[in-house]
Amino acid sequence: MRFVVIGGGPAGVRAASTAARLGAEVVLVERDVIGGAANLWDCIPSKAIISTGALVSRARRAELLGLGPLTPEVDLDALTRRVQEVSGRLALSMTQQLESQGVRIARATARMTGPHRVELDPGGDVTEVLDADAVLLATGSSPRVPDWAAVDGERVLTTRQAYPPPVIPENLVVIGSGVTGVEFVHMFRSLGSAVTLIVSRQQVLPAKDPEVAAALEADFLARGVKLCIGARAVGIDRPDGGVAVRCDDGRVICGSHALICIGSVPGSEGLGLDRAGVIVNDGGYVPVNHHCQTNVAHIYAAGDLAGRLPLASVAAVQGHKVAEHVMGLHTREHRHLDYDKAASAIFTEPEIADVGLAEAEAFALGRKIRVTKVPYAANARALIDGDSRGFVKLVSDPATGIVLGGSIVGAHAAELVSIIALAVTANLRVIDLAESLFVHPTLAEALAEAAE
Ligand SMILES: Cc1cc2nc3c(=O)[nH]c(=O)nc-3n(C[C@H](O)[C@H](O)[C@H](O)COP(=O)(O)OP(=O)(O)OC[C@H]3O[C@@H](n4cnc5c(N)ncnc54)[C@H](O)[C@@H]3O)c2cc1C
Repeated sequence: MRFVVIGGGPAGVRAASTAARLGAEVVLVERDVIGGAANLWDCIPSKAIISTGALVSRARRAELLGLGPLTPEVDLDALTRRVQEVSGRLALSMTQQLESQGVRIARATARMTGPHRVELDPGGDVTEVLDADAVLLATGSSPRVPDWAAVDGERVLTTRQAYPPPVIPENLVVIGSGVTGVEFVHMFRSLGSAVTLIVSRQQVLPAKDPEVAAALEADFLARGVKLCIGARAVGIDRPDGGVAVRCDDGRVICGSHALICIGSVPGSEGLGLDRAGVIVNDGGYVPVNHHCQTNVAHIYAAGDLAGRLPLASVAAVQGHKVAEHVMGLHTREHRHLDYDKAASAIFTEPEIADVGLAEAEAFALGRKIRVTKVPYAANARALIDGDSRGFVKLVSDPATGIVLGGSIVGAHAAELVSIIALAVTANLRVIDLAESLFVHPTLAEALAEAAE
């Protein structure tokens, strides 16, 4: 089986690795860095900077923990080096692992010239043509830039130009209040920037449980973040030394920098999909079935390009599933990915994570549910750590006790939600959580308590 993978992000890397392990002859084509946008610009740099920001926040609360006042200063050069080091190390270890598994890594831009042919162009000239029995398209996505925003990489930035930030903005205007926008608000606020967030709807995180969004808004306001609710940005002017973001309701928000976080566009352009006969939808995404097959059976798409759920975690599991399918291990129908059970997290302060059915969603569906909620303030570990903001909310079926979902707002929510994710995936009941013998004192005990 000659398997060509285009794109070395989480989807491509995982597919290449699994397929090689299962015996395929694999070529992974990546034009940039192994690990993909996830490693270079998105997940890893953002979380590395947020991790530093968390330490700054914790230091600012030192007096709560019995210390004298601490006033940490951000060293931007050191922070930049650290971010590059983390993503460099991950890229290296992924590359070494793939090579040790026998994957050939080709540094080039790839495009399809037929259903079974992939052309490699390492920098201008076509140097190689690969014949493939199966192909995975995993070219990801890039930030969406609206035509009203003249991005210059200096004052008007996309998310990719904010890592590491060339300077720490004095006064940042963040446009877009989805997951990416609020993470940037948190990140730059932790590093000392004044921040205004433009929120086009009536709450931040419009797709999330209103109670969860309200908890984040309250924290932002307490930290001095300004929220400009119900306004849609329509233009950015560049007065001397700054930016002025014009909104559709006439408000103008001034700052030193503007950051655009309004979603992404799929990487389907220039891939030669028409020559391979692969259908692309109006948004530029490549539609796939539950095996991630495109309309051409031996050509697969996974990750952001497939437009299902734009998460690195989902991309990696899709990649794994694609490799299994390519190698003929696809008889276990019941093991299709269930996107409704994917856990996701927002690395703000407090952290936010959820999985499965949300309370508001159940309400909208008219579905009977049992909701139990425990505040972090009642948890010993949260009090010990001096951060008792937040809560755990568990959603279950009142008739069977089966855990249907949950949300967590509070420290380490992204880690803790995995316990609920496991319960949701394995159809565990609340009693299974309540009677698990968790370690004391830990935050996980709040989950067991919510399950009682
Ligand atoms: C700011 C930000 C933070 C995020 N944080 C998180 C997070 O914390 N957790 C999470 O789960 N998700 C997060 N995401 C989403 C996550 O980054 C994406 O879902 C994930 O990167 C998608 O993986 P992928 O494999 O589809 O592609 P990508 O990671 O986008 O990689 C695609 C690769 O394909 C290569 N490529 C493209 N075209 C070609 C070509 N023609 N030839 C050769 N190579 C090509 C590119 O160079 C790139 O390396 C974040 C996104 C953003 C914007």
